[in-house]
Amino acid sequence: MIFDPTYFLYVLPALALSLWAQVKVKSTFAKASRTTTSTRWSGAEVAQRILASFGLDRDVRIEETKTKLGDHYDPRNKVLRLSPDVYHGNSAAAFGVAAHEVGHAIQHAKKYPLLVVRNMIVPLAGFGSNASIFLIIIGMLIQSAGLLVFGIILFSTVVLFQIVNLPVEFDASARAKKLLVEQGYLQPAEMPMVNKMLNAAALTYVAATLTSIMTLIYYISVLRR
Ligand SMILES: [Zn+2]
Repeated sequence: MIFDPTYFLYVLPALALSLWAQVKVKSTFAKASRTTTSTRWSGAEVAQRILASFGLDRDVRIEETKTKLGDHYDPRNKVLRLSPDVYHGNSAAAFGVAAHEVGHAIQHAKKYPLLVVRNMIVPLAGFGSNASIFLIIIGMLIQSAGLLVFGIILFSTVVLFQIVNLPVEFDASARAKKLLVEQGYLQPAEMPMVNKMLNAAALTYVAATLTSIMTLIYYISVLRR
């Protein structure tokens, strides 16, 4: 499909949205990082304190990762990795990102059903994303509908993963916003910045999901030809 211009007709709008969302996340975070909060906490301290309020501070470790905006929660090792600007930062955006990742740790501890489903799909989708491309390219080259169908089925696991991932991400952000105000780390007036930051981050997930849905539709259109 790399050689097929119609592929780009299908995915171009979603890819453009994806790029735009990534730029938006970076610029929103950069802008938001300039304003400090009325507290003396860092993002890591806020994360630590929210974890403690759920009795999770002994279970979940917090580490600094050098990757810019590479913040994530690693459920396998129960590690919350925060990028330098979030780990040391004292902005509403830093708190928002830190609390979002804590949201994932809370989902994990509470066995939030969609997270459980998502984690079950992860290995399947990981295999599917690699194997499907291979099968689909060979299927197109030797014009084998069987290989194409098999490739499409494998690729649907990737789409399924991304669709299930969306509510998991929205839920982590909703938890973050609620906890930051409830536990007094941010004032309601500081929340618009957090909302902007988390909405931009959510848009990257929506765009990635759209890209894979459009790729799937393209594969199916190849099969029909
Ligand atoms: Zn997340």
